[in-house]
Amino acid sequence: MIDLHSHSRASDGSHSPGEVVALAARSGIECLALTDHDTVSGLDEANLAAARHGIELIPGIEISADWESRTVHIVGLGIDPSNRALERTIARAAETRINRARAIAQSLDSAGIPGAFRGASDIAGGESNLTRSHFARFLIAGGHAKDNRQVFKRFMVKGRPGYVPAEWIGLAEAVRIIHQAGGIAVMAHPARYNVTAKRLGRMLSDFKATGGDAMEVSCGAGNAQELQMLSTLADRFGLAASAGSDFHGPDKPWAQLGRLLPLPSHHPTALGLLSVG
Ligand code: AMP
Ligand code: MN
Ligand code: MN
Ligand code: MN
Repeated sequence: MIDLHSHSRASDGSHSPGEVVALAARSGIECLALTDHDTVSGLDEANLAAARHGIELIPGIEISADWESRTVHIVGLGIDPSNRALERTIARAAETRINRARAIAQSLDSAGIPGAFRGASDIAGGESNLTRSHFARFLIAGGHAKDNRQVFKRFMVKGRPGYVPAEWIGLAEAVRIIHQAGGIAVMAHPARYNVTAKRLGRMLSDFKATGGDAMEVSCGAGNAQELQMLSTLADRFGLAASAGSDFHGPDKPWAQLGRLLPLPSHHPTALGLLSVG
């Protein structure tokens, strides 16, 4: 069993990197990729735990990127976390995140919700690498929304308090950096971008044209119908298939480690690309 997309407290997951690995081992996963948002800071701890639990850890990252003024997520698998170009990209994303976090807090403050920066950083255990998930938890704790779903309807999305568009690197640059760091580039959760089928086709075709290697076909919250749709797209655009739950913690029961539909057997897989490369 494999799971090539997961988060720890290094970004917006609820478990430490070591705990994610331990849980993966308990769930019967043989090969896990830790892919925190725009950071590799959890990988050392995860590596140690993987050695202890006897599972294979693929060093990964989930890079936030811009495509046609939308945010898309590109998972890098098998990256060298100490690669200089990757380090620079991570530093730039961290700066984007801290600036955006301050702007989000300011916007919430204007909407009558003070203290969001402090609140979100307390939840995150620091000011670096704050995500909208941390603000979401702060808003729920303050009674401003009852769950994540409601948060992302009322706040931090276009036209709502706390909405701050982030300036991420472009899609092509994200792919290039992942390749420079020796990894393969995987389009994360293609069904989750809220775009028309036509635009999704253009997104994947652009991704392939910039050198993208694979796309997630089996996703955490996905069903058989989605898997079929994504499998067809992977074939059409000549992308290898990946499988990742996008695990963040136990509070999202639909995205648990290894809880994934099997990939159709005819696909070349992202894992296959890694062991060849
Ligand atoms: P950021 O990268 O800081 O913009 O934060 C994005 C994170 O917020 C995602 O990785 C999810 O964990 C979470 N998120 C974004 N949109 C939603 C949503 N509609 N429902 C639940 N969580 C969301
Ligand atoms: Mn997340
Ligand atoms: Mn994502
Ligand atoms: Mn993710």
